[in-house]
Amino acid sequence: MIDLHLHLDGSLSIEDFKYLSKKDGISLGEDFPKNIYVSKDCKSLEEYLERFDLPLKFMQSKENIEYLTASLVKRLYKLGYIYAEIRYAPLLHLNKGLTMDEVVKASIDGLNKGLKECPGFDVNLILCCMRHADEKLNMETVEMANKYRNQKVCAVDLAGAEALHPSSYYSRVFSKAKEYGLNITIHAGEATGSDEIMMAIDNGAIRIGHGVHLSLDKDSIKKVKDHNVCFEFCPTSNLQTKSLKDYNHVPLRDFMNNQIPVCINADNMTVSDVSAISEMKQMIKTFSLTKEEVFRLYMNAIEHAFIENSEKSLLKKKLESVFEKYWSNLSNEE
Ligand SMILES: [Zn+2]
Repeated sequence: MIDLHLHLDGSLSIEDFKYLSKKDGISLGEDFPKNIYVSKDCKSLEEYLERFDLPLKFMQSKENIEYLTASLVKRLYKLGYIYAEIRYAPLLHLNKGLTMDEVVKASIDGLNKGLKECPGFDVNLILCCMRHADEKLNMETVEMANKYRNQKVCAVDLAGAEALHPSSYYSRVFSKAKEYGLNITIHAGEATGSDEIMMAIDNGAIRIGHGVHLSLDKDSIKKVKDHNVCFEFCPTSNLQTKSLKDYNHVPLRDFMNNQIPVCINADNMTVSDVSAISEMKQMIKTFSLTKEEVFRLYMNAIEHAFIENSEKSLLKKKLESVFEKYWSNLSNEE
């Protein structure tokens, strides 16, 4: 299993919440654990994003950021993942006086601690700029990604409410990222349309978070292919934010028919109550995907992961060796 689009703050376990609540004396609220999942009648991306308020309360110290990063790495390993990229926005962790450098270092320390207990597993970090944030903080995020690029930070992202803050506002930030030669992925075409995806590509994105509203006209397809862009689908999250009506509306077949690379991810394991595994199962069920098609989706993820070619080759071999087991797990259960 592989996940390239997974938010740390949306993926805290119930045990993590309980442990940190007790340790820090922060209340979980009367309706815990119901309040950590998005409700069935969630109306929009903006409402979905409110589910991050509670986890973020716990993510304001070095100790907790380190602990939570390690915890997620270990959970993914136990679930049988062979590679993952975990993302979060360092600028959301400055409320109690941490510097951005301290936040990023804490997450790297947590990642390395977690990986020590997970032989053969690899995870990298993506630092998210936020659409609502000051340019100064987004610029600092890019600086951090550059500073720690050889220490498990593999890319920068742009997250947050895209309908309110279009990608064009962020061209200076991403020019800087491009100047540094950083890998770029951008959340786009989730709550908005294809124009936003085109802008994200102009801003240097070689992966698009969601992108389900890509218009499949000749010019858009050409642009996507010219830039070798991969789309990080997170189906359940799109249903919850009302970006898509139901699973049948996930444009997976359309993208596959046009040979546009797609991979299947969780987005938020806790907020959405899914994993990349359950999402893949759902796609197999909805679209009657064949074994070869599922293999292709995992290969897409490896080919577009933000890692060196040598690591991609190793992961491909690993995928080949574990895929029979994956397939029987994915296809046998309901
Ligand atoms: Zn996301």
